[in-house]
Amino acid sequence: MFSRAFILKTASLAPVEKTVRNSKLFKPLVRRFIAGDTLDESLDACVVLLQKGLMVTLDILGENTESPEAANQAKATYLNMLQRISQLPEAKNASTAEAFSPEPLNISIKLTQCGLDLGIDVAEKNLCEVLDYAKSLNNFVRVDMEASDYAERTVALMSKIVTQYSNTGTVLQSYLFRTDDDVAKMISLKSRVRLVKGAYLEPASVAYPEKEKVDEAYVRQAKALLEAGHYPAIATHDEAIINELVKFVDEKKIDKKTFEFQMLYGIRRDLQESLVAKGYNVRIYVPFGDQWYPYFSRRLAERPANTMFILKSLFKG
Ligand SMILES: Cc1cc2nc3c(=O)[nH]c(=O)nc-3n(C[C@H](O)[C@H](O)[C@H](O)COP(=O)(O)OP(=O)(O)OC[C@H]3O[C@@H](n4cnc5c(N)ncnc54)[C@H](O)[C@@H]3O)c2cc1C
Repeated sequence: MFSRAFILKTASLAPVEKTVRNSKLFKPLVRRFIAGDTLDESLDACVVLLQKGLMVTLDILGENTESPEAANQAKATYLNMLQRISQLPEAKNASTAEAFSPEPLNISIKLTQCGLDLGIDVAEKNLCEVLDYAKSLNNFVRVDMEASDYAERTVALMSKIVTQYSNTGTVLQSYLFRTDDDVAKMISLKSRVRLVKGAYLEPASVAYPEKEKVDEAYVRQAKALLEAGHYPAIATHDEAIINELVKFVDEKKIDKKTFEFQMLYGIRRDLQESLVAKGYNVRIYVPFGDQWYPYFSRRLAERPANTMFILKSLFKG
């Protein structure tokens, strides 16, 4: 079977990208993971999830803006997403002054879309404008974690602004060697963390190449966040890990409402709904937009069976 690295490298080849992008054959597989090309289509998908008792984080696909104009455009899109969400009756937050209740529909954004490649000050300015607007709407903005080159700048920026903005938090990736320290740091800063295994192709100098080591780190870091973190998000589809963490939460008598599980749109819907039925908070990451190819390749790399489907189709036709 193909390795994750092989699939990610092959998917990045221009002819492969062109074929997958242009072929109607792959549309159903693309649609399984991506809610739509437009904000309207994705909001329809969000409402369906909200009506099932799931929460949502909405993501406009796209990475690395290369000019201030493109970064401004990305910021305008984020502001528009927040505004449209605030108009959805299904997304109204039931929170009261006394009890924390998580926002039903928030957004996830990327610092490289905010202009991180143009300078940390550019990204900070754009991010803070988005956070100010989200704050005025009583909403939350998650900052996704990208490839390891950006990890230090992302953690530094998020640590810097956390005292000013409680309506944001970042993502930490268990495959990186640095993550135990980052988990401890974010716990001490009372910052909301989403914990993931990590989706990028990383060198062995910064990340565990072995899956078992990543899984071990994930469980260790998730337990630390569940015990001492600030409304952490346990983002995985790994059922064995989820079962172990559910057992841990029961044993430690951790309140189910002090954390949430998160999963990606289209993956393990059965597990998403069964966790909701058991009273857990579950949030679905809903991506949309026409720049879906890098996100789609990462989802293929996680599941060789999906790639086999593409390869068989390519050779058949
Ligand atoms: C809400 C959310 C947000 C994320 N944000 C980020 C981020 O900001 N930065 C980042 O680097 N990564 C992010 N990720 C991706 C993450 O790093 C992993 O690549 C991804 O979640 C797969 O890892 P896993 O924990 O599900 O475990 P795995 O061990 O990869 O998978 C466990 C099981 O889940 C199922 N599964 C997993 N992936 C697929 C798939 N593509 N298709 C079908 N079944 C699948 C399979 O049954 C598999 O056996 C995010 C993931 C989630 C759920």
